[in-house]
Amino acid sequence: MTVGQQPDSLVPVTAHTVAELARAEEHSAHNYDPLPVVIMSGSGAWVRAIDGVDYLDVLAGYSALNFGHAHPELVATAREQIGRLTLTGRAFQHDRYAEFCADVARLCAKDAILPMNTGAEAVETALKLARKWGYDVKGVPDGRAEIVTCAGNFHGRTIGIVGFSTDPDARGGFGPFPPGFPSVEYGNLDALAAAITENTVAVLVEPIQGEAGVLVPPDGYLAGVRRLCDEHHILMVADEIQSGLGRTGDTFACEHEDVVPDIYILGKALGGGILPVSAVVADRDVMDVIHPGQHGSTFGGNPLACAVGSAVVRLLETGEYQRRSRELGVYLHELLGQLPPDRVAEVRGRGLWAGVELAPGQPSARVICERLLARRVLAKDAHEGTIRIAPPLVISRDDLTWAVERLADALAG
Ligand SMILES: *Cc1c(COP(=O)(O)O)cnc(C)c1O
Repeated sequence: MTVGQQPDSLVPVTAHTVAELARAEEHSAHNYDPLPVVIMSGSGAWVRAIDGVDYLDVLAGYSALNFGHAHPELVATAREQIGRLTLTGRAFQHDRYAEFCADVARLCAKDAILPMNTGAEAVETALKLARKWGYDVKGVPDGRAEIVTCAGNFHGRTIGIVGFSTDPDARGGFGPFPPGFPSVEYGNLDALAAAITENTVAVLVEPIQGEAGVLVPPDGYLAGVRRLCDEHHILMVADEIQSGLGRTGDTFACEHEDVVPDIYILGKALGGGILPVSAVVADRDVMDVIHPGQHGSTFGGNPLACAVGSAVVRLLETGEYQRRSRELGVYLHELLGQLPPDRVAEVRGRGLWAGVELAPGQPSARVICERLLARRVLAKDAHEGTIRIAPPLVISRDDLTWAVERLADALAG
């Protein structure tokens, strides 16, 4: 599908769509407030809705769709594997497991991986790993381990994780929460240094805060986190679930400052947009604090996940997607930089990833996203005033140009 198949006139929400949305409301929990579109198929950066309208997807499943919808190699791999073997449980070894572990470890230049399914599970896994390392290796007294977290973070939705969220919607009404997760201002190394105690075992950080509105920390921040971790014998844990796997123009966002964390947390795009695949990746001195029976998951590292995950690593090892993100990212930021300053206060981001912060007095980001929907572009607000642009890395230059033109038009009213 390419731009121009359908005219650029505004598309109304059809009765068919309204009826389908109402039907979903009936028996679904109301934990999301989706835009009024019902998608039925997708290819590359484009999706088709039930009323036959094509939309350009510039959210890409929050970076789960870095390789686009229905990437031919990933779909072929998944199809072949589905017909052969999909689940064994970790009680038995299967023939895709060793390869997947080796592939992800190689991609990260680390010794070992612990596979899980969703991002939140991988974050929980990393926290457990860091605490156990703190007790077994660093010698922190039992029950005292602290993991420093950052204000504005998003690491998922479990009780443990929302306990150190600073978003009232995410945490309100869900306590009590586990202790041991002090929070400091993101991007502030002095605050981080001040929060470190003899019981600190790890710092958990997003190299760029995605859900917070694509917040890029000041230059030198990640290198500074690395230095503080080294000085205090603390693990640096990088949540690269959204920022990693090509999104910023590098395989990992940490690479921008030549930083190698002790633990990578991967998710989203690792599943190729096909199924949830996540992983915690570390060297042996950290990973080997976990022994049989101490952590696991029924579906973690299943044959289908491993086959798709290995295929994702192969795509990343071509370097093509990182290059696309880097080059098209420069172009995207150039285009976004030309949006009128009375509408747009700031554009943040790196690679094919941007947070467009609306100027004071502008409609909410949600309203702009509704206007974009009418213009056949699917984007999502991140908080009140920021529109997040994170298209599949396979998007064409022309489609990208078209998307920003549509955005300019939506901002104009
Ligand atoms: C999406 C996300 C998560 C949670 O992943 P789920 O698969 O939704 O559980 C964690 N950390 C970051 C940075 C994310 O963007």
